[in-house]
Amino acid sequence: MIPCKPASEHPPEWKKLFADSYVGLKSLNNYYQNTDLNPQLLNDINTLFPIQLTQELFNTHQADGAVLKQYLPSEHELKDPPGYNSNPVGDIEATQLPGVIKKYRHRVLLITSNTCPVHCRYCFRKNFPYPDSSPKKHMFEKALAFCEQDTSVNEIILSGGDPLSLEDAMLAYLFKSIENIKHIKTIRLHTKYPSIFPQRITPELLDVLNNSSLNKVCVFHINHPDEVTAKFCEAAQKIKHTNTTTLNQSVLLNQINNNAQTLIKLSHKLFNAGVLPYYLHMLDNAKGTHHFHVAYDEALAIVSKMKSHLPGYLVPKLAREIAGEDSKIY
Ligand code: SF4
Repeated sequence: MIPCKPASEHPPEWKKLFADSYVGLKSLNNYYQNTDLNPQLLNDINTLFPIQLTQELFNTHQADGAVLKQYLPSEHELKDPPGYNSNPVGDIEATQLPGVIKKYRHRVLLITSNTCPVHCRYCFRKNFPYPDSSPKKHMFEKALAFCEQDTSVNEIILSGGDPLSLEDAMLAYLFKSIENIKHIKTIRLHTKYPSIFPQRITPELLDVLNNSSLNKVCVFHINHPDEVTAKFCEAAQKIKHTNTTTLNQSVLLNQINNNAQTLIKLSHKLFNAGVLPYYLHMLDNAKGTHHFHVAYDEALAIVSKMKSHLPGYLVPKLAREIAGEDSKIY
């Protein structure tokens, strides 16, 4: 086992840039003065799941447009109908040890970070007990020891939060350690950084990918074609050129992307960026997300229309996650 390195004393440049770009509730106060959300409501929403996005996102998109509506709060977050809960996909039951989730045969998911580049209001882990489960450095060693012992595992998924919230030295440590486990063949990263803060794709990160002998898969999380910007495309190309398979998964969201034309455009734009659409997820019933819900019949009709306009490789699989099942349902 490779010993885990301590965090660097001097944060990398991207981290400082990112800290400067981050806005939370306090910085958005002026905007909220003109909305129906009174300060008490906003405070209640923020307490449940902090409001965080980048200034660039806020400046680039209309507040009532499809992109920002994913990241700005709504009073609906405080009014859950029955059936919405804090553990919608059985993460708690599938946790083997803090930060290690095993739901499916042959794959283990590591909660590598409790930090994301943006807080998506529809997030299925918005109520996840991160302080208990986000591995500290010594916890990575235990997580990797678990993966080493379980020889049925051939793929490790770095998730979170967002694994690219880790510094590159820590990612290099994880990649190297995983390479040393003979039965692990594939490493997969799920990230929103390339579409939210593409400056995160540093030369050092590309070195980590380039130098790895594992099969590498990077899954982006983009829901709307307006998020496929020139900067995202550049970042995605850089990742792809490290011999990493680049995919995208979306969540089907009411008033964001629940029409075939939007998703067809998304598939085309992703493909132009070298990215294949992978999953179109039904919303998970996490507390505070019901206003994004799309009925399954509507979802089937949307995908049917997509099939009539797109080649099969550009139609994402419509997927549902049901706690306790041994795969996603699609
Ligand atoms: S980036 Fe992913 S984990 Fe983070 S808030 Fe968004 S959906 Fe949740």
